[in-house]
Amino acid sequence: MDTTSAIAFRSAVTPGEVLGLFRHVPGGLTKADVVRHTGLSRTTVNQRIDGLLTAGLLIPAPEDARTRGRPAGQFVVNRERGVLLVADVGATGLRTGLCDLGGTVRLEREAVADVTTGPDAVLSLIDGLFVDMLTEAGHTAADVLGVGIDVPGPVDFTSGRVVSPPIMTGWDRYDIPGWFTSRYDCPVVVDKDVNAMALAEHRLRYPDVAHLLMVKAGTGIGTGLIASGQIHRGADGAAGDVGHIQVTVDDVDAPPLCRCGNAGCVEAYAGGWALVRDLQAEGRDVTTVNDVVRLVRSGDLVAVRLARRAARILGGAIADAVNMFNPRVIAIGGQLAHTDEQLFAGIREVVYRRSLPLATRNLQIVRSELDPLAGILGLAQLLVDGIYAPQRVQELIDRAG
Ligand SMILES: [Zn+2]
Repeated sequence: MDTTSAIAFRSAVTPGEVLGLFRHVPGGLTKADVVRHTGLSRTTVNQRIDGLLTAGLLIPAPEDARTRGRPAGQFVVNRERGVLLVADVGATGLRTGLCDLGGTVRLEREAVADVTTGPDAVLSLIDGLFVDMLTEAGHTAADVLGVGIDVPGPVDFTSGRVVSPPIMTGWDRYDIPGWFTSRYDCPVVVDKDVNAMALAEHRLRYPDVAHLLMVKAGTGIGTGLIASGQIHRGADGAAGDVGHIQVTVDDVDAPPLCRCGNAGCVEAYAGGWALVRDLQAEGRDVTTVNDVVRLVRSGDLVAVRLARRAARILGGAIADAVNMFNPRVIAIGGQLAHTDEQLFAGIREVVYRRSLPLATRNLQIVRSELDPLAGILGLAQLLVDGIYAPQRVQELIDRAG
């Protein structure tokens, strides 16, 4: 680095970047550490840290950390500077969480909710739970630094609007961020459920795995991609929609209709809703995806046969994704992941048979251990990233100053 670019680099180290240094160091850093990491002068480091302290974003490291032989004068990120509110919206139920600025879930709530009742009903229910959690935690709306919502449908991430969702009646292009910004003075992030789940698996379970595929096999079927450590949403937010890839199945004359309006989609055979339909046609007493899971686990022969077929069809779509994308880990979550061996054995068999040896040599196909919390944990991670964005940190410093 020549002198000119060194100077440019030094002046470019923003308070946000200084704060970012602290993010992954639980024990904290001293001012001297920051000087060493950034090349900034001691005066500038003092200024940056003072700003971060005034804004409450950094705090002196607690006593107990110092008594374990660490040098005095350490600072750590203030995880209690505010709270994050998140909601993971499914087809038939939702889960909300109140998180600290480290992304740890402090409180959570669950509710039964039919997403087809529309945005007003569902978002009002979510906000009721948000207010309830804030009250329990002793916070107010003013402490909320981020709101994150995920939904079971395609999302235009830039505008936060759901676009032509097959199962979310009444939600098309609805302004979800606008609904919350009238209540909370903070950024609102909306994403597809399985993207949030993929981010949680990557950050919290497989931080060293840069390429990960998350599969949600629930009422519908969706996948989220982590590529080079980032959520890959594609050009329009439509990446990973394997549930609506059309497949040919040998023993079927007329391909079944899908919720998206086409026929013969992966989801129309292997989604939870399709299994409910097929089991009802076979005279079984099922109405929900959980009923399907119970029937498969009880060993009902028809249910097991249909679950195995669903696994092979889903496995075929995943095999194509593996050839296209070469992930190191495939994490499978959603209610159907609880049918256990039927699903996993079927998927593994097809993926290893149909994918290229180079792509499967180090491939792991695992159950999501974070499910059913993966959605809210991933949203919290997204919001935490936003808090550490240089512009946002500057805003918080300006407000405090
Ligand atoms: Zn479809």
